Amino acid sequence: MAGGDVLAVDAVACAAIGLAADHIEYLRMAQEAGIGTIDLEQIEICGDSLAEVQVHLRTAPTASKAFSALFPEVTIIDGNACSGCSGSLYLSLKTAKEQGLLDRIPDLKLVVGAGIAEVPAGEHILCLGNCTKPLSAAHHLPGCPFISIEFCDLLRTTS
Ligand code: SF4
Repeated sequence: MAGGDVLAVDAVACAAIGLAADHIEYLRMAQEAGIGTIDLEQIEICGDSLAEVQVHLRTAPTASKAFSALFPEVTIIDGNACSGCSGSLYLSLKTAKEQGLLDRIPDLKLVVGAGIAEVPAGEHILCLGNCTKPLSAAHHLPGCPFISIEFCDLLRTTS
């Protein structure tokens, strides 16, 4: 795809894979800043029509949904953790599972990300990363992101 208006090119590319460009914040902001248009009504498409090339892609599951499927031994409560804690969480769970640590604590709930307002109910709650520090949970692993070796050590020593 090519065009003289970079936003228009992005808007058409979005439409070609089933996304609405005005649902994508940076494209909307760029249009508001006058960089170009994402309004398909104002864009002239040459060559193949949108209908001819359109595919509908499915969005990938969030990291926490994917991890919940991979590690059903734990409940993940995700307050929109960034890629730092999401990466640490995956490595931690993978390592802990390989070391047979995930079954040690029943009903373990892991809280990660800044968007959780209060500590969830339950006996075995572990809050991960500096973003969850304000929750003042009994068990908190600091770090930005938290360290997977420390996560495994904590599981090993907590009963
Ligand atoms: S503690 Fe740091 S790495 Fe973890 S979610 Fe918060 S900002 Fe991201």
